[in-house]
Amino acid sequence: MSPPVLHPIRQIDGEAAINLFVASLEDLRHPKQCPACLTGCLLAFFHNTNGAYIWDNVYALRAHHHVFLDRCIAFLTLERSLDELDVACARWIGCDCDLSDAFIRKLHDLLPRGAEEPNIDTFTRHVPVKEKGGVHKVAHNAEKAAKQGKNVLWPTKPSDLLPFGPESSVRALDYWIERSPTPLWIGLVGSMLEICKRSMIPALIASTYIPEKSVGMLEVPVMVYLVLSSGSRSQATPASCLADIKRCAVFFLQLQSFCDRHELLKFFAGQEEFLFRATKTALDSVRNIARDVTPYTPDTDQDAGYIQSVLTTLAATVHCHLALPFDAKAYLPVVLAHSLAVLKTEKDPPAMAFQALYQLACYERCCAPGCRATFAGLGRKFSACAGCARVPFCSKPCLARAWKHPRVAHKDVCKKIRALGAATGLASKPAPTDILAFREKCVAGVDEKDVADVALHMQRLFKEMSSAFSEEDADTQLLEELGNSVVSFETLEIEDK
Ligand SMILES: [Zn+2]
Ligand SMILES: [Zn+2]
Ligand SMILES: [Zn+2]
Repeated sequence: MSPPVLHPIRQIDGEAAINLFVASLEDLRHPKQCPACLTGCLLAFFHNTNGAYIWDNVYALRAHHHVFLDRCIAFLTLERSLDELDVACARWIGCDCDLSDAFIRKLHDLLPRGAEEPNIDTFTRHVPVKEKGGVHKVAHNAEKAAKQGKNVLWPTKPSDLLPFGPESSVRALDYWIERSPTPLWIGLVGSMLEICKRSMIPALIASTYIPEKSVGMLEVPVMVYLVLSSGSRSQATPASCLADIKRCAVFFLQLQSFCDRHELLKFFAGQEEFLFRATKTALDSVRNIARDVTPYTPDTDQDAGYIQSVLTTLAATVHCHLALPFDAKAYLPVVLAHSLAVLKTEKDPPAMAFQALYQLACYERCCAPGCRATFAGLGRKFSACAGCARVPFCSKPCLARAWKHPRVAHKDVCKKIRALGAATGLASKPAPTDILAFREKCVAGVDEKDVADVALHMQRLFKEMSSAFSEEDADTQLLEELGNSVVSFETLEIEDK
C-alpha cells in the first residue's frame, strides 16, 4: 500500500507545513515561528475553507507524521511556571518570522482577516469574557506569589482556573478550539476537569465544540503509538506514549465519574463507533507499549492495567446505555462482558425480554417501524414472522422493510427470539405470571448475551416505532397503548412474595 498523501489545501503544501511546524517546536520553550504562522500551518493541512476537518489529511497524519502529534502534545502539556510563561509570552507575542520567504508569508495569510492574533497568552491566561473583562486570576496569583518568592505552577484551584465561572472558561476553550486541532487543547480540558470536576460538566456539554471533538483526543496517543510500533519513530519514547494515553484515560475516567448517563451519551452522541474503534486499538496496544518501557516496572504494569480498565469501563458504559447489540464481531468481548454486568445490575434482562415478548403478544399492530396498521384498523389479525413466530407484520413489504431496517433489523434478532421462546417454553400468548418460570429457564439454559440482545433490541424497536408517530403524540399515544397492554411486573413480584 502506498503511503497516504496529504491533500494540498489552499495551494499550500501540507507536508512542508508540517515540517515547518515540527521544526519550529523542536525546542518547546522557544518556538521558532510566531503563533500566527503555526496556526497557519495547522489551517493549511487540517481545515478546508469552511473550517471543517479534511479527514484524509488527518488519516495521513496518523500514518506518517507522528512527530507532529508528539510536538503538539508536548508543547501543550509542557509544565511551565508562570515566570516561564511570562518569558514565553513576551518572546512569542510578535512576529519575527522570515517574511521574505514566500511559503512562510503564505502561512501567515491563512489566518482569517480580523481574527485575533493567537498567542500563548490566549491559551493560558486570556479568558475572553468580554462583558466582564479583567485579568485572569492566575496571573494575579502569580504576581502575589512571586512577591513572596514562590513559584506558581499550573492552577490547582477552581478559582484559579475558572475566575469567571465554568461557562466563561468553556467559552474561552471554545474560542481556542476554533483555532486549533484537537491535540492542542486536550491538556487544558483535562486540567479543567481535574480541578473543577462537576462544575465543568454542564458547561462542557453545552459547548458548541468540545463534545463533538473530545472523542478524538483518544486518537492522538493511539496514533503516536501506531507509528512507534512501525519502527519509524525518532523522538517519542514508549514511556511518553504511555503517559499520553494515561492522561486521556484520566480524562475519560473523570468524564464518567462526573457525568450522569444523559450527559455522557450526549458527549458521545454520533461518535460511538469511533470510541469503540479507538478503544480497541488502545487496548490492543497498551500492554505492548508498557512492555517497551525500560526498565519495565510495577508502576508501568499498573498504568497499563489502569488504562485498560478505564477504557473498557467507558466503552461498556456507552455500549450498555445506548442499548447496542451484543455483537462479538463489532465489539470487544471484554467490553461486552462489562456491558452485560452493567445491564444486569441496573436492569433485569430476562424480565425485560419477557415483558417485550408479552407486549408483542398483546400488541395487535404491525411491528414494522413507520407502519401504523392495527388489527382493529384493518379488521383482521396479522400473521407473525415465520422465523420467530412472535413478531406480527401487516404485510410482506412491511416484513421485508423491518428485516433490513438500518437501526433495528429484525434479521439480527429473529433467530434469537425463536431460540429464547423454545428454550423457555414460552406460550405464544403468555400470561403475566409466566415470568417466573421464564426467568428461571433463561438463567439455566440461554446465553445471557442473547437474552440481553433480545431485550435491548425490543427496547430499541419500540422506541423506533413510537418515534415514527408525529412528535406530539409519539410519547403519549404509543406509550398509552403499551401501558394498557402491560401489567406491572413490580406489583406482580410483590404479590408472589
Ligand atoms: Zn510570524
Ligand atoms: Zn422473526
Ligand atoms: Zn405494516
